[in-house]
Amino acid sequence: MDLKDKAIIITGASSGIGEATAKKLAKDGALVVLMARREEKLNDIKQAIEKEGGTPLVVTGDVTKKKDFDHVVSQTIENYGKVDALINNAGLMPLSFVEKLKTEEWDKMVDVNIKGVFNGVAAVLPKMKENKGGHIINISSMAAHRYFPGGAVYCATKAAVKMFSEGLRQELAPKYGINVTSIEPGAVATELTDTITDEDIKENIKKMQEMTTLEAEDIANAIHYTLLQPSRVNINDIYLVPSEQQ
Ligand code: NDP
Repeated sequence: MDLKDKAIIITGASSGIGEATAKKLAKDGALVVLMARREEKLNDIKQAIEKEGGTPLVVTGDVTKKKDFDHVVSQTIENYGKVDALINNAGLMPLSFVEKLKTEEWDKMVDVNIKGVFNGVAAVLPKMKENKGGHIINISSMAAHRYFPGGAVYCATKAAVKMFSEGLRQELAPKYGINVTSIEPGAVATELTDTITDEDIKENIKKMQEMTTLEAEDIANAIHYTLLQPSRVNINDIYLVPSEQQ
């Protein structure tokens, strides 16, 4: 689709992949709606997009709260009259070995990485059904394909997102023209590793950071490509990794 004047909600838009995606899509004339918890960061990004001629909307919210998502959707409709796409990007990765029983961190990952995606879908679906069309893009991960040290719970959440995306696609695309895509990146240079509290894992991550990782813009490009396809084309998955990553 042509992105001009398309209303696109992006969760986790305050940094990393979400920020890069918002900037990329806005450059093509998309009406981007920036959702995350850190208002100051969102406002800085809004200003940067406005400088380039865009007209973004900031709506702060926590993806684990269904009512926050409903608010984002109602604000989007109030300002832009529609919701054309949702990019479920918000996520956390506090890696740790299971035997450490960091159960609070497990809960957080389940709440943000999985339930956050469910909440987003529940919030936009009535409007997309009414419009007989739309696009939902879920940011899964290479972690949906394979385990890495300390990633048992994180990998499980990302595998859940990948499989949920496939179920959504089969249910929604033929019946309502709502396309669904799962994006599965390998290592990307962002703030994602900041949430790791387990010292053993931090060492592993340092080693990983020595390789040339993907940039957030590389994922934004994949999302952009997916959105530009005609509605008859459903890109199911994009699995992209750094050339140096094994
Ligand atoms: P960042 O840490 O830069 O971004 C994470 C974003 O999620 C932030 O904008 C944060 O905003 C938001 N977020 C976290 N919790 C919530 C919440 N409860 N409600 C709303 N927003 C929330 O990392 P990335 O850009 O790397 O991560 C984006 C996605 O990409 C994640 O789903 C991640 O799992 C996935 N991914 C990342 C990879 C990588 O190597 N970096 C590889 C594969 C997938 P705020 O704190 O302001 O709420």
